[in-house]
Amino acid sequence: MPEIRIYRELCKGVEECGICREVCPKKLFSPSKSLNRKGYRPPQVTQREACTQCQNCMIYCPDLAIAVEHRKAGKGVKK
Ligand code: SF4
Ligand code: SF4
Repeated sequence: MPEIRIYRELCKGVEECGICREVCPKKLFSPSKSLNRKGYRPPQVTQREACTQCQNCMIYCPDLAIAVEHRKAGKGVKK
């Protein structure tokens, strides 16, 4: 399963930005329940297992708030 890390404090909010939601082909991001320290609502990932590891979210996030690591079953992290 891919590792999708969200750096909540770097995000400027799904309502204000939302690029990750737009570019994810599987629509895996939804607004999280809690706000970050800047008062924005970062995304959270639902159905992580559906991620295609396309890395669109990481590439297009203007604030570098998402990191996606490629993983192969049983092989650990592959870059
Ligand atoms: S890597 Fe692709 S499929 Fe996975 S969460 Fe990001 S945009 Fe969606
Ligand atoms: S694209 Fe980045 S800054 Fe914009 S809502 Fe998603 S995680 Fe936050």
